[in-house]
Amino acid sequence: MPLAQSTLSELRRTIGTPNVLTEKEDLIPYSFDGTAAMKQMPGCVAFANTVEQVAGILKLANQTKTPVVTRGSGTGLSGGSLPVADCIILCLVKMDRILEVDRANLTLLTEAGATTQATFEAANSVGLFYPPDPGSMKISTIGGNVAENSGGLHGLKYGVTRNYIMGLEVVLPDGEILWTGNKCVKDVAGYSLRDLFIGSEGTLGVITKVLLKLIPRPAAKKTLIATFAKMDTAAQAVSDIIAAQIIPCTLEFLDRTTIRCVEDYAKIGLPLDCEALLLMETDGHPAAVADEAAKMEEIARKNDAMEIRVARDDAEAMKLASARRGAFSALARVAPTTILEDVTVPRSELAKMVSFVAAAAAKYKLRIGTFSHMGDGNLHPTFLTDERNKDEMHRVEEAFKEIFDEAVRLGGTITGEHGIGIAKKSFLPKFAGDAQMRVMRELRRTLDPNGILNPGKIF
Ligand SMILES: Cc1cc2nc3c(=O)[nH]c(=O)nc-3n(C[C@H](O)[C@H](O)[C@H](O)COP(=O)(O)OP(=O)(O)OC[C@H]3O[C@@H](n4cnc5c(N)ncnc54)[C@H](O)[C@@H]3O)c2cc1C
Repeated sequence: MPLAQSTLSELRRTIGTPNVLTEKEDLIPYSFDGTAAMKQMPGCVAFANTVEQVAGILKLANQTKTPVVTRGSGTGLSGGSLPVADCIILCLVKMDRILEVDRANLTLLTEAGATTQATFEAANSVGLFYPPDPGSMKISTIGGNVAENSGGLHGLKYGVTRNYIMGLEVVLPDGEILWTGNKCVKDVAGYSLRDLFIGSEGTLGVITKVLLKLIPRPAAKKTLIATFAKMDTAAQAVSDIIAAQIIPCTLEFLDRTTIRCVEDYAKIGLPLDCEALLLMETDGHPAAVADEAAKMEEIARKNDAMEIRVARDDAEAMKLASARRGAFSALARVAPTTILEDVTVPRSELAKMVSFVAAAAAKYKLRIGTFSHMGDGNLHPTFLTDERNKDEMHRVEEAFKEIFDEAVRLGGTITGEHGIGIAKKSFLPKFAGDAQMRVMRELRRTLDPNGILNPGKIF
């Protein structure tokens, strides 16, 4: 049902006419997110500037039973901020103020619409460090990161978004404002509601403020890349690094297809005669960094690395790291539709999973480039395809199913960081099982009895 004129009028009264978009050409940029092959026009886009405005919008939506899809920057890769027909897109990007950096308590308080990059820079400017660094960090919002519990390249050593959330301000679907958490390092008073909202993909409440934990900025960092003629030896090098009790701050993998696309795109000077590339970074005390970098170089050599490059300075380190940071953009250039997948397996099963993906590509005659947060066991097989080719899309779906089944068979999961959204909801019941599905549904019904927040996502 189209949005009622009375609802639109009330919305304009609540947040001001310039903050409500209704023209078709204004709505088109909000009709998709980072997920391939999914589009849906919303009823309107509403920009909130304050938590009171968010509360006002939700009260109105709850009374009129109008669906609301919360949106940060729309970089999500599981269709989480894809509109529901005729919904209100509640966009948080105007709530982007960093409110406080507390050096005594090592915390940062920000509105949810601040970008991850701005948050990192605010911490960095006072010698502190906010580690979670999704590949999209220049544009993704902290609210989106919390709602997806995003990971990043630093995940192996520093963990994911959840590990840095100390408190949240959340507006519930009926408009009530809730604060959970505080600056205390220890707090076990009641259920950890904060954990409930982390990764809730916009289905339980709208996150408006986030209190983040910061840590001291590492004094030194070293960056290396190593190339390998065989996938197995690259995977073995990763296992040997972990077994040597080195926890690099970055341990990333690119396969041959990805290396070629990156080189074609960024002209970094990567060797093209290899099957696999590892990006390895270590940070911390200068002496420990020098020692760990030397050990990783030695381990790569023992595993028959074809070539090892150690960055001599920050500029070269940035250049080498950009091979990984630019992987998705590089792959996205070569085919009309790029579907980036996200499976995680126990690290001991990585080599098997990488080989399985390559075999699935051959079986279904598909082009798949794989890059991964190797140290986390998190793989991104990326399908280079064309959504207009129905036969190929059918083969893509079949290959997906086999890859997810294999990941689960190996003790892994159907998503390590991109969430369920709409793209993976059909796979969740089999993975989560009846009891978990029932509890999740009941939680959702309790918090949002009218089902106005992001309906049709996750379930
Ligand atoms: C090039 C590229 C690289 C990427 N790399 C990574 C990576 O390394 N690691 C990783 O984990 N992800 C990665 N992603 C995925 C994506 O960037 C993350 O999921 C990110 O956290 C989404 O943030 P966003 O602000 O764009 O959120 P959106 O896409 O706008 O929204 C994502 C979900 O969060 C909900 N949401 C957004 N804001 C709020 C809020 N304030 N309150 C409640 N719910 C909210 C939405 O309803 C939706 O369900 C990448 C994406 C791209 C395009």
